[in-house]
Amino acid sequence: MRRDTSSLAAALLTAATFAARKHRDQRRKDAEASPYINHPIEVAEILARIGGVDDVTVLQAALLHDTVEDTQTSPDELEREFGSTVRKLVEEVTDDKTLPKLERKRLQIEHAPHLSPRAKLIKLADKICNVRDVTHSPPKGWDEQRRIEYFDWAAKVVAGCRGTNRALERHFDALLRDADGLMNPAGASQKRRTT
Ligand code: NDP
Ligand code: ZN
Repeated sequence: MRRDTSSLAAALLTAATFAARKHRDQRRKDAEASPYINHPIEVAEILARIGGVDDVTVLQAALLHDTVEDTQTSPDELEREFGSTVRKLVEEVTDDKTLPKLERKRLQIEHAPHLSPRAKLIKLADKICNVRDVTHSPPKGWDEQRRIEYFDWAAKVVAGCRGTNRALERHFDALLRDADGLMNPAGASQKRRTT
């Protein structure tokens, strides 16, 4: 099938522009307080470059994945702008913010195996991006123990997403090995796996 590349490009750029407007006042938690929009762009970029994903619906949903959770954006608004499939994908990867934080984290582990294959792709890329950030530009004030706890939790969520995209899963595993090495070159991997 011949692709209409101009409309694919327009679809991605429209989603990126929408996300940039929604996240415009937000910053990441790193010491430099990077613009938040860098994160959803990186998630979409990881899907395309590392995962080889060219499904424009998945890439749009990746660009939009934190709009409902972190900005004043409703699922209805996403459906009006981008259609019901994008809306449902974003909803699948959105935490219920009325729940306590630790409960939300537990539910991410529990729900991961039941996500649709497209939502699993976005989860994988999101965790790749966050593990990379926790390794190289962690949230301000996080000590080594907190970073290790984050890696362990992310690994549990990713375990529920496996069997979806080998390249993304391997990349995640390599990042965790690097993170172990950076944290404690003398044997962090043992420390993570025995606690
Ligand atoms: P948080 O869930 O609070 O923060 C991590 C999330 O922040 C990421 O998943 C990512 O989400 C986003 N984020 C923004 N900037 C960055 C960045 N630079 N690097 C990485 N992620 C970033 O962290 P925890 O999972 O540790 O917290 C869970 C709960 O535990 C909270 O209630 C916390 O208060 C509590 N807690 C835990 C401690 C510990 O030692 N583990 C100590 C004190 C409190 P997104 O993909 O949405 O951008
Ligand atoms: Zn995210």
